[in-house]
Amino acid sequence: MTASISHISGHVKSTEFAWIDEAFTKLQSYYESGVTKDYQWRVQQLKQIDKMVTEHELDIRQALQTDLGKCEMESWISEIGYIKAEVKHTLKHLKKWMKPRKVSSPLLAQPGKSYLQPEPLGTVLIIGAWNYPFQLVIAPLIAAISAGNCAMLKPSELSEATSALIAKLLPQYLDNRAFTVVEGGKDETTQVLKQPFAHSFYTGGEIVGKIVMRAAAEHLTPVTLELGGKSPCFVDRNTNLAVTAERIVWAKWMNAGQTCVAPDYILVEEGFEQELIAAIKTKLAKQYGEDVSQSKDYGRIVNERHTQRLASYLEEQPVVHGGRVKLEEKFIEPTIVLNPALDSAVMQEEIFGPILPIITVKSMDAGIQLVNSRPKPLAMYIFTKNSGLEQKLLRETSAGSVCVNDGFMFMVNSELPFGGVGHSGMGSYHGKWGFDTFSHLKSVMKRSFMFDLDVRYAPFNASKLKF
Ligand code: NAD
Repeated sequence: MTASISHISGHVKSTEFAWIDEAFTKLQSYYESGVTKDYQWRVQQLKQIDKMVTEHELDIRQALQTDLGKCEMESWISEIGYIKAEVKHTLKHLKKWMKPRKVSSPLLAQPGKSYLQPEPLGTVLIIGAWNYPFQLVIAPLIAAISAGNCAMLKPSELSEATSALIAKLLPQYLDNRAFTVVEGGKDETTQVLKQPFAHSFYTGGEIVGKIVMRAAAEHLTPVTLELGGKSPCFVDRNTNLAVTAERIVWAKWMNAGQTCVAPDYILVEEGFEQELIAAIKTKLAKQYGEDVSQSKDYGRIVNERHTQRLASYLEEQPVVHGGRVKLEEKFIEPTIVLNPALDSAVMQEEIFGPILPIITVKSMDAGIQLVNSRPKPLAMYIFTKNSGLEQKLLRETSAGSVCVNDGFMFMVNSELPFGGVGHSGMGSYHGKWGFDTFSHLKSVMKRSFMFDLDVRYAPFNASKLKF
């Protein structure tokens, strides 16, 4: 697309992306028509999402295969089946979520009643990341629809095939007047962010998260930021080692480690590391075979730039397993690094790939100190049979979500809010939490004309003051 420049009121204004402004205005006027507030409209849109996913399951799988080499099972668990489950859960509970939520009223307000009335926010923005490129756009969309909003969607340009598919399919199934998909990268997103959205919901890295928040401040737009971070995984000696290793392999190497909630690094007490490494190696071979590059179940890195970034983490590091990189195939073997320096890139940056550092600590207290010396992570994992240690770790650390004795299984429970804390993000979604994120809970008090306390009205006197 070539940029055209027009002069308006003495200012030079790029009109290349004027269509984004126009699309926003159209969404906003459709929102103002009130159509999207209707329960039946919401239900119909949600059913259409389910229909779209059912009828185009193969297309979605192919796009995910193209973008990330995702196998069928992973695509089902983390994208397609995940979305179908979220629609089902939302349809089941939506009527209840939309109802006024009664709260009690104090004596002073009697007779009267108080309640919270959920209402939609307006036209909202959803920006997705590339690692679960279908789910990370459609799951927030389900929440936005359930709450009765219009939405502008911006899938990640890095997962190009999925972005194109979303842009093609959504208009075929959903009410076109309520939703617009904007494809593109930085330039398009910059223009999108100029719009006065009622809410911005962003999934991605911290740097762009700050850009989104700054742009939102301009319009006092509230934001939900689903960011990342280095999610620690504590492994206690007192654990079921075989199950622990199996689950760590599942959580770390699904999607070749490109999962925001993947265990980023492991913390283990000195002397236990070799046993743990041996157990992880056994389960790696069980799940992906001796030559992982031949496994149809193992994904690829999203692009060469990220493959290079990950490969650079391995330079001069104590690799104890794996380490093979095939740049042109965007392949990196599941790799374990033992005790890399804590100030090296692999322990400073979010890895977001198939490299697992194992850090030995003198005690779990030292592990807690290490975690607490860093920004609050999106997730944390604890593998132990010791409930005292489990409680201590829960009490003395902070994370968006925690799973005890498994990987990111909290993701399958729509009753649990999903979101970060501190640098790993703000706000949450999934199930009713998503409905609430895209709703305003309007406080309503209704009073009766029947009875009144004169004490609050002027003229005031000493006896009124004593009341
Ligand atoms: P990304 O590169 O796909 O960027 C995310 C979005 O920001 C894209 O839509 C992109 O177009 C837009 N963008 C990029 N540069 C921009 C700019 N300069 N101005 C405006 N918009 C811009 O994704 P990413 O940041 O590489 O994603 C990886 C990060 O996302 C990791 O930190 C990961 O942990 C996090 N993540 C979090 C979750 C979650 O649910 N919390 C899920 C997935 C990924």
